[in-house]
Amino acid sequence: MLRDYLQQCEAALRELYAQPERDVLMALCRERLLDKPHGDLPRWLAALNALPEGPAECDLSADTLRIGQPGEVDPAEVKAALQGLIPWRKGPFDFFGVHIDTEWHSDWKWQRVAPHLSPLAGRRVLDVGCGSGYHCWRMAAAGAKQVVGIDPTILFLVQYLAVRRFAPSVPVWFLPLRMEELPAQTENFDTVFSMGVLYHRRSPLDHLLELKAVLGEGGELVLETLVVEGDEQTVLMPEDRYAAMRNVFFLPSVAMLERWLHRCGFVDIRCVDESDTTVEEQRATEWMRFQSLPDFLDASNPARTREGYPAPRRAVLMARKP
Ligand code: SAH
Repeated sequence: MLRDYLQQCEAALRELYAQPERDVLMALCRERLLDKPHGDLPRWLAALNALPEGPAECDLSADTLRIGQPGEVDPAEVKAALQGLIPWRKGPFDFFGVHIDTEWHSDWKWQRVAPHLSPLAGRRVLDVGCGSGYHCWRMAAAGAKQVVGIDPTILFLVQYLAVRRFAPSVPVWFLPLRMEELPAQTENFDTVFSMGVLYHRRSPLDHLLELKAVLGEGGELVLETLVVEGDEQTVLMPEDRYAAMRNVFFLPSVAMLERWLHRCGFVDIRCVDESDTTVEEQRATEWMRFQSLPDFLDASNPARTREGYPAPRRAVLMARKP
């Protein structure tokens, strides 16, 4: 099944990459999915294959992505299969009436972002760090010609395949890759999203330059990341963990982030949203049973993380490649 999927990916990538680059990308994907797979992959694929056969009628334009209709199949079997793919972090989804209440209300992030986008109709889109692919399906439903999601987390790829099983003709492709692994200077994409990734990068300016390199002339960047309040001189680097997360490096103010984008050569830079992340947006559920944001805040002062930093606040910035 994965072999077939990779073959279809390779065909779809023909439009985006010339042969030498495509061969390098596909070799990495094959290594990760076929030759040296994650130890849990057989278990996840068994869960995937316990789902009913697709395709099914889907509505990928609603806040809860709806796959199939209630009553078409046995909900207990569907639920058991989907529970084999826990933790479900980004969603929500509804499979044949089984509601997956994911850790994150990713629909709320989409509501903050979508009104500010240049229309996605007919565009080639890259979603860097796409998680389960939730936003990729929303982008395709908004009319994008092709959506490529990349994320190194293999469980998220299997969650994407669970939707794809029922919506095989929607032009969304998930590759198990990191941004640093995409060929630079290909200038292929009309819109590039980087949401929830920048603060995980040790070298945030290099990340911005990588995003710029894959955009075509006039292409649009959508950047969503953790920020702190402050002026154009303000950036926070946590000593170690931030809200229990390892690998958090730079949390700039919006003014500092605008400066970074400017220094990287972006134009038309604007912040379209800034909001605190609430414990309604990110929390543990039946589908993600580990600790979540409520546990990562200071119990006596929820304006602080348990390490004593400002509690999570996120901004959405738009910019254009000249
Ligand atoms: N974009 C989604 C998910 C954000 S979570 C959203 O905004 O809701 C961050 C994701 O980035 C994780 O799934 C993680 O696996 C992925 N990630 C981390 N480093 C990355 C990198 N260098 N390139 C691509 N994805 C990365």
